[in-house]
Amino acid sequence: MSERTVDVAIVGGGGNGILLACLLADRGLTVRVLERRDTIADRPRAFGIHPAALDALDAVGVGDAVRAEALALTDGAFIGIDGRRAAVTFDPRDFPGPVVLGQNRVEELLEQRLHALAPGALQRGVTVTAVTDQGSHVTLTATTGADTFPVTATTVVLVDGTNGALSERIAGPARPVGPRRWYAMAEGDASPDDAPGSVALIASPEGIVESFPLPSGRRRWVAWRGTDAPLDADSFGMLVHDRTGRPVGRIHAPVSVFAAQSRRRRALVHGRVILAGDAAMTVSPIGGQGLTIGWAAARVLADELASSQRDEPPRLRRYERAVDRMARRAQRRASFFMRLGDPTSSRDRARALAVRVLALSSMRRAVYRLVVVRRP
Ligand SMILES: Cc1cc2nc3c(=O)[nH]c(=O)nc-3n(C[C@H](O)[C@H](O)[C@H](O)COP(=O)(O)OP(=O)(O)OC[C@H]3O[C@@H](n4cnc5c(N)ncnc54)[C@H](O)[C@@H]3O)c2cc1C
Repeated sequence: MSERTVDVAIVGGGGNGILLACLLADRGLTVRVLERRDTIADRPRAFGIHPAALDALDAVGVGDAVRAEALALTDGAFIGIDGRRAAVTFDPRDFPGPVVLGQNRVEELLEQRLHALAPGALQRGVTVTAVTDQGSHVTLTATTGADTFPVTATTVVLVDGTNGALSERIAGPARPVGPRRWYAMAEGDASPDDAPGSVALIASPEGIVESFPLPSGRRRWVAWRGTDAPLDADSFGMLVHDRTGRPVGRIHAPVSVFAAQSRRRRALVHGRVILAGDAAMTVSPIGGQGLTIGWAAARVLADELASSQRDEPPRLRRYERAVDRMARRAQRRASFFMRLGDPTSSRDRARALAVRVLALSSMRRAVYRLVVVRRP
């Protein structure tokens, strides 16, 4: 393969890399996305799309396609161990809620959009092994396995994910922020008691169980775990039933167990090499804000890159400040949700009080702002 020169090379074609590429192509920049995977990752991850995320999807012209397939949430409730409920009802005019669609489908729609804006910009099956800032431009070493070739770009954005090796090499390890917890997650059939469109977060002495509706009619269950030991579908079903006391539809394998931890990096701009997406800041999945924050930040980054001079490294102060502000807020929110879901402990008095306050009808707007990301 021959050398290619572009305005911006993006390493990593996950949800953040592809959306950023769409934004840049829309602003007239030439882009190349280098993604090591041959196909879109199909393991279940994001499914909650907040209003701020829909704004970002609208900005690249896929918002309506997502809305057409997504399920709109109607309401949600946190149910304390004493049965007290702090609830929120969504309505499209004053209190628009998140919609639900699987991350892999959203990525598929974004990929189609990128193909329309910049045909051939996404190269799958290509791993970037080295990044060299030459001062006036950046050279990447890319490989397909059979072939190794250079890619030259004015600017490189590393969107290689929370464990991205290139980001770590350039920017050092990310700093953990807030609590770290384990959760098990699986899909199950809805039971007759489950209202479509309703989210339930159910506290129990053994840890929280969260139940989310999916567009397929199934439910996504997420349960606090004290260990990363694997769990089969039957054991997961029993765990959910024992903790919630509710009828639970059949749980489908596989059950995934994941660690939830927020992380932050001090510097995101290293000469002509920039970090974005989860590589720049990771928000714990509890609260479902990761892509929303990454996409909102990508909009600021795209504007600043489009207006920066080619002959000097981009400054991107607005981008760094925006990421810092959004990450702090989202990570505080995620920490709150994670602590709210812990098993019975000495913190329970504080938690019971928190639920009592949030259950007050005068707190409706505050609860809404706590659970929904509108303008990060
Ligand atoms: C269980 C779970 C539930 C979640 N739920 C939500 C939710 O409801 N709402 C929400 O907004 N967020 C949620 N998130 C967070 C969301 O999934 C992430 O924020 C998002 O996937 C990050 O996207 P990214 O593009 O930054 O990174 P990734 O999706 O990790 O993509 C990085 C890409 O870079 C590629 N790559 C890495 N290194 C190289 C290399 N050297 N060369 C070429 N390619 C490379 C990888 O193959 C990968 O495709 C959840 C996360 C988890 C784990």
